[in-house]
Amino acid sequence: MGKGSIAVVWFLQDLRLGDNPALDHAVAEYDAVIPLYLWTPDEHGEWPPGGAAKWWLHHSLASLDGDLRQKGSRLVLRKGAAALPLLRAVARETGARAVFWNARYEPALRERDREVVRELREDGLTVQVFRSRILHDPRRIQTSDGNPYRVFTPFWKKLQDAMDVGATLDRPRMGESKAPARWPASESLGALGLDPKHQWADGLAEAWTPGEAGAQRRLDTFIERALLDYDEGRNRPDRDGSSRLSPYLQHGELSPRQVWNAVAGWVSNRTMKDAADAYLREIAWREFGYHLLFHFPHTTTEPLNEKFERFPWDASERDMKAWCKGRTGYPVVDAGMRQLWRTGWMHNRTRMIVASFLTKDLLIPWQDGARWFWDTLVDADLANNTLGWQWTAGSGADAQPYFRIFNPVSQGNRYDPDGAYVRAWVPELAELPSASIHEPWKAKNSVLEDAGVVLGDTYPSRIVDHREARDRALEAYQGL
Ligand code: FAD
Repeated sequence: MGKGSIAVVWFLQDLRLGDNPALDHAVAEYDAVIPLYLWTPDEHGEWPPGGAAKWWLHHSLASLDGDLRQKGSRLVLRKGAAALPLLRAVARETGARAVFWNARYEPALRERDREVVRELREDGLTVQVFRSRILHDPRRIQTSDGNPYRVFTPFWKKLQDAMDVGATLDRPRMGESKAPARWPASESLGALGLDPKHQWADGLAEAWTPGEAGAQRRLDTFIERALLDYDEGRNRPDRDGSSRLSPYLQHGELSPRQVWNAVAGWVSNRTMKDAADAYLREIAWREFGYHLLFHFPHTTTEPLNEKFERFPWDASERDMKAWCKGRTGYPVVDAGMRQLWRTGWMHNRTRMIVASFLTKDLLIPWQDGARWFWDTLVDADLANNTLGWQWTAGSGADAQPYFRIFNPVSQGNRYDPDGAYVRAWVPELAELPSASIHEPWKAKNSVLEDAGVVLGDTYPSRIVDHREARDRALEAYQGL
């Protein structure tokens, strides 16, 4: 590039300096680099970031700005109705000749980005879009007859055969010398209005440290302490057995390649290899979610299996409210929903249990559950949320058969055998003995009394009888 060349790096869902191909390229090829973040929620179609994700974003942007400032740079913030005019304005004001970013895959944003590329190139700017959100290009992984995959296991096999994730990129060396002679104006972080100023956010702040440093710490701790037992630990909501990296991956404070290489690089014997493979398989589920989102973009709101368009859902507002608040009378369901509300995250096992309960025991459309998750999860991800809900409802790719209906009592007994998870999130049941904690309605009066539990008063009575609800769900399904 000529002397004095300036490039804009448009940060989207890649709020990190390490393993960031767009940033890396700009720093290597241009004299000055302007890191930019644009807040344009109207462009996200039906899925603008929800409340918990906005909280995370606020802190993640602050962290990224702090990291950039340590390198003599800063994060420029702008907000508006659309990205294109904002990018044009920044390019004009700074004399930038190039714009780089890492792709995202949500249908509305893909469409927007195609237009932005075209228009900026017509303006005479150099534009390049890199891939770092996922490990594979969804167009290049195909079945032998050239179609997208709908079943996970062959997808995973193909991915393993086809994929070379490449080396992780180091944080670029950018120092003061990469700063432009004059910085363009920036909004303040507060002006983006992301931080909810609501007491609810205190629970999120207690549970998480957004930002690249927090992400790296969590990855290192997980590998050191829990990866070896992951295959068993990942199923236990009462343990800290999974990585809890999902919100960091969602906001791009870690790339899947960083995770992949760190986990694969840790292996030095057979037992470790089995543990690493079990973990990488879950990263591949994340990839599968993106593969489906890319090829079947309508599935964020419509069932992949068209048969389910006729499903006789029976949405009850009262039941929906009880589910959202964690007041269904089923302890493991309520524990999951309260963990979600308090921390913005829920264990995968309980996500499956509460989603099954909503769609099968309550016959509430999976789309309603997906929207609640969207607003309350710090890791809300359109690809994985859609995959998880459609899978549980039975309408998605490689979905769990509809007739497999989770029994919340046996799931609780199996995966939270001592009731520690329920005690942590449903404190009004904390004094119950383990034998009764997942079905307090069966406990003797004296046991309830000793534990200070009055059903229908200190803790809700069940809003449905699982056995009856199960029959009702099967009947509805058989009518399809
Ligand atoms: P780990 O077990 O440590 O797994 C490591 C990573 O692999 C995760 O961070 C995630 O990126 C990926 N992963 C793990 N399990 C899955 C899975 N089943 N599907 C896709 N990717 C997976 N995940 C999200 O990131 N965002 C969502 O909005 C989301 N919504 C869900 C909704 C439902 C109804 C269900 C059943 C699952 C959903 N999941 C979602 C998938 C999964 O529950 C979370 O990724 C996981 O619980 C995150 O915790 P972890 O990082 O400790 O996972």
